[in-house]
Amino acid sequence: MENIVDFTETPVADFFGSNCFSNAVMRERLPKNIYKEVAAVQNGEKGLTLEVAEVVAASMRDWAIEKGASHYTHWFHPLTGLTAEKHDSFIAPTGDGKVIMEFSGKELIKGEPDASSFPSGGLRATFEARGYTAWDVTSPAFLKQDLTGTTLCIPTAFISYYGQALDKKVPLLKSIDALSKQAVRVLRALGNETSKRVFTTVGPEQEYFLVDKEYYRRRPDLILTGRTVFGALPAKGQEMEDHYFGTIKERVAIFMRELNTELWKMGIPAKTQHNEVAPNQFEIAPVFAATTQAVDANQLVMETIRNVASRHGMEGLLHEKPYAGVNGSGKHNNWSLATDDGINLFDPGANPESNARFLLFAAAVVEAVDRYALLLRSSVATSGNDHRLGANEAPPAIVSIFFGGPLTEIFDNIAEGKRGGKTEAGSEIKLGVTSLPNLPKDVSDRNRTSPFAFTGNKFEFRMVGSSQSIATPNTYLNVAVAQALGEFADKLEALPGGSGASQKNEAVQMLIKESYAKHKRVIFNGDGYSGAWVMEAERRGLPNVKNAVDALPVLLQSETVSLFEAHKVLTKEELESRYHIYLEKYSKQIHIEAGVTIDLARRYVFPAATAYAASLAGGASALASIGAVNAPQAKRAKQIAGLLAELYEAIGKLEAALADAQGIEEPFVQAKAYAEKVRSAMDGTRSLVDALEKLTAKDHWPFPGYEELLFKL
Ligand code: ADP
Ligand code: MG
Repeated sequence: MENIVDFTETPVADFFGSNCFSNAVMRERLPKNIYKEVAAVQNGEKGLTLEVAEVVAASMRDWAIEKGASHYTHWFHPLTGLTAEKHDSFIAPTGDGKVIMEFSGKELIKGEPDASSFPSGGLRATFEARGYTAWDVTSPAFLKQDLTGTTLCIPTAFISYYGQALDKKVPLLKSIDALSKQAVRVLRALGNETSKRVFTTVGPEQEYFLVDKEYYRRRPDLILTGRTVFGALPAKGQEMEDHYFGTIKERVAIFMRELNTELWKMGIPAKTQHNEVAPNQFEIAPVFAATTQAVDANQLVMETIRNVASRHGMEGLLHEKPYAGVNGSGKHNNWSLATDDGINLFDPGANPESNARFLLFAAAVVEAVDRYALLLRSSVATSGNDHRLGANEAPPAIVSIFFGGPLTEIFDNIAEGKRGGKTEAGSEIKLGVTSLPNLPKDVSDRNRTSPFAFTGNKFEFRMVGSSQSIATPNTYLNVAVAQALGEFADKLEALPGGSGASQKNEAVQMLIKESYAKHKRVIFNGDGYSGAWVMEAERRGLPNVKNAVDALPVLLQSETVSLFEAHKVLTKEELESRYHIYLEKYSKQIHIEAGVTIDLARRYVFPAATAYAASLAGGASALASIGAVNAPQAKRAKQIAGLLAELYEAIGKLEAALADAQGIEEPFVQAKAYAEKVRSAMDGTRSLVDALEKLTAKDHWPFPGYEELLFKL
């Protein structure tokens, strides 16, 4: 296979990042003063000037052309959740029939794609089609290489003519700034004078399915909706648990090797890979990085999975629930806070100073997650995720935090005013006086059912869907934590000047105590899948929002608007537009799924099952003619005919529900109709089709079944 790189001839360390215009490359290729300027822009210390952009653009162009690029694109994250690109070539005619390769500073910092076809939720009238894309200096440019050539991709933010955010990157960048500002205030109040910036680090674990292309091509539902709308469960499912962490099949291993190679070339540190719970389900996780890089990298990981799979005669499925009755796919968003001088703020550490800091920052997360639980829930509200959350395979729809026993005990003790609690290890906890006991890193592994788990030195937000961009979940999380930290900073800064270490210590202790007492209801260390937790959560007053549509209106609430406006992340208008875009996307997706269900049931399943029943009936009469009375073929034909009669009715009902939903004007009411009426009519149709599949001869059935899709590769 021509794409397989021989790592003995080409060591990984030699080609890693060869397609990435990383800081290392910039340091090497840019004049020293220009590189310094770029670094300052990356650190949020100043804006990018055109002079600097000119030099960077020229260097980027030369680098890309050396590597065979003919085109460049501003690569951005519109609100569709995908990434978008518009390609321009570097050529500039010289007037004498020749060209030179050009790329200016202006072209680097500002592109101007026609924005009229991207959703704006009413922010940009179609006639005002201009949208601007501006280079996001915090994420490196990279080269995309495929059989068609090499393209320079410039990660960008996408804004309207009037400066409103039209993408997921702009608010993400703003949320990082907001969080940094408040976290630095808290650090200063704790006596830290050295850290200048705090940024979030993110490591997403991506789950996906692979399916043989030959079978995929014969499943119009997979092609059109990303999931199967029908499919009877085979006799063997995932109950044997023989897939998880099992040996990786050779065909998949070859695919993974190429996937890693492609990602490594782009500078994405793909690290772990393994089989997941469901058959033909896998996971890939890179080493964590600064948020914007992690967000961009994750989009590339998803895209590269699909491209590389395709080269190997497979299809990569990123949908949250490709197969009913089989585990779906999610994306664990590992998240932490790091200072520019290298402190992980969620590392419990081993001295009194880091111990107080850790507890205070952890308390801020508890407060943020409790206060903004609905907002976090809304960040993962998609139609695909509706199939997972609360379905006992993914976290429940109730947002709670897993802390594990030892840490919970420490917080409980502080809240109860016990200055020196005992931990399991028997070591004494005095805030700021002794060090914390080592919190075992594996505490969380005993609990995979929590939507938001502390995992040793980071938090893991586990509700995110596999196909989602992680930009929005991280944006909301950052803003929520920024708010809690800001309020903490207000209180600490209000201490009288000249307060000594012990007064500060007392104040920190008080802060944690008050905040935790108020918000500890969000801590839950038990089994999130159990029915008892649903009741317990209700008793605690924690919201349990079961579908995406009901999760979205929080974006309109005044508390949300003031939160986002206070931190200058999104305006009321931008939040409203997002609310409408997400609702509309939800409705559209179910609309398509329902249309596909009707079409396949009517034009594929109905005729196929009819033909099979007819052939059975014909067989029965033939058998009767030779004296075989009461042949079972007749009974089976009747049974199928009965189901076909029901299916006929069910399709009619689905069609009516779909027409009703489509006719509704108000977006929320419409999305509700899709979520409830259309979906249940789809389920009704599906159960009949699946029953028919089980009664119909394999060679009469129009699609490959779950046994092919899930077990053959
Ligand atoms: P597991 O969760 O399977 O026990 P790890 O804890 O090693 O495995 O890490 C899982 C993911 O968390 C990886 O993608 C890793 O890069 C990421 N991660 C580790 N540390 C951090 C951190 N400080 N911030 C963000 N992500 C992190
Ligand atoms: Mg994990």
